[in-house]
Amino acid sequence: MNSMSEAVHFTPDDERMLLDAIDNWVEKSVRPIAREYDHADKYPVELVEEMKSLGLFGATISPHYGGLGLPASTYAKIVIKVSSVWMAPTGIFNSHLIMAVAIERFGTEAQKQKYLPRMATGELRGGIGLTEPDCGTDLQAIRTVAKKDGDHYLINGNKIWITNSGNGGMILLLVKTDPTAQPRHKGMSLFIAEKGPGFIVSNKMKKLGYKSIDSCELAFQDYRVHEDCLLGGLEGKGFQQVAGGLELGRINVAARGAGIAEGSLKLALRYAQERKTFGKPICEHQAIQLKLGEMASQVEASKLLVDHAARAYDRGERCDMEAGMAKYFASEAGVFCSQEAMRIFGGASYSVEYEIERFYRDAMLMCIGEGTNEMQRIIIAKQLVARNPA
Ligand SMILES: Cc1cc2nc3c(=O)[nH]c(=O)nc-3n(C[C@H](O)[C@H](O)[C@H](O)COP(=O)(O)OP(=O)(O)OC[C@H]3O[C@@H](n4cnc5c(N)ncnc54)[C@H](O)[C@@H]3O)c2cc1C
Repeated sequence: MNSMSEAVHFTPDDERMLLDAIDNWVEKSVRPIAREYDHADKYPVELVEEMKSLGLFGATISPHYGGLGLPASTYAKIVIKVSSVWMAPTGIFNSHLIMAVAIERFGTEAQKQKYLPRMATGELRGGIGLTEPDCGTDLQAIRTVAKKDGDHYLINGNKIWITNSGNGGMILLLVKTDPTAQPRHKGMSLFIAEKGPGFIVSNKMKKLGYKSIDSCELAFQDYRVHEDCLLGGLEGKGFQQVAGGLELGRINVAARGAGIAEGSLKLALRYAQERKTFGKPICEHQAIQLKLGEMASQVEASKLLVDHAARAYDRGERCDMEAGMAKYFASEAGVFCSQEAMRIFGGASYSVEYEIERFYRDAMLMCIGEGTNEMQRIIIAKQLVARNPA
């Protein structure tokens, strides 16, 4: 069952009120600190507390476990709004909610009862630990191994780029429980891994963009985890469980791309009306108009694709192709619009006094995370063929 099928009934008025509240919060709390925190690569502790009050850590968790139970379509609009001002803070609740979706979809009832209510309040925050130094796209090549030891498992291995793993308290950890299994995915399992002895945050990574949020290298050295923490209580299901959670992850990333595209357009539109050359605002030069026209079209198309994928997800339909298309198109739109905005800003784009350079630095990540855009097009093509046999 699709986790979103348990979403509470949400009227357009409810959605408008919620989005207004998010707008107010973004203007009051996010916009004023974005530039300073991004440049200082400082974790926004105050924003995390406000996200808790807004219920963002439980946004897509069902009310039965203390969350808001928002449909993905409403949630995506929240992500677009925040990302149109500053993308990075969305990662604090996005990766956390991908973990929550996996627990709600695949976890045992005991696991749901134990983790989801504390995740919904933000008391316990997490992310997903898949990538390793030697593999990201080819996840079946991971080397982190969990060995049975009585009613526990002993885990050894390394992860890299794990969002929220510095400030969060746990991750959903992908391991091999049978490194010799063929096909390889049959030997993969997911653990709900809370921090404890042997769970080592070895390095907070320095990044081009997506600053202020922690992306860390992790080492697991004889990390002991109880068998009750094996997601769903079954070995060998990890790969499918990851794939199941990635649809929402892709919609999230698509929404971030659409937000970056929209934010870049807004900044450029304003600057193009203020900046004058040859006696008139640059928005009256045709070369700039062509850019603005293309950017605005890509923003609207991105938002429609995100909404289309999110609604399919909310109906409980298979939507890997729709989510892939949204993720691919909207993330490329984010890169395109931030680059075009840089050109519209001219030399000013290179000054850290303006905001546009942050959008430019943040945009490219959306083409890489949650499955690279190369892989998205391959997934789209495979689905096209499967859905349209000759
Ligand atoms: C800031 C940041 C945050 C991140 N957060 C997380 C996180 O929270 N959790 C997590 O687990 N991971 C996270 N990641 C990792 C991210 O998911 C991976 O970087 C991504 O999946 C790509 O893997 P890779 O870097 O190993 O690239 P590779 O897999 O080495 O790919 C390199 C290139 O080869 C291409 N390629 C690979 N295989 C194929 C193929 N079969 N056909 C065509 N092209 C192919 C790719 O598209 C890419 O262009 C994060 C990364 C970054 C940069």
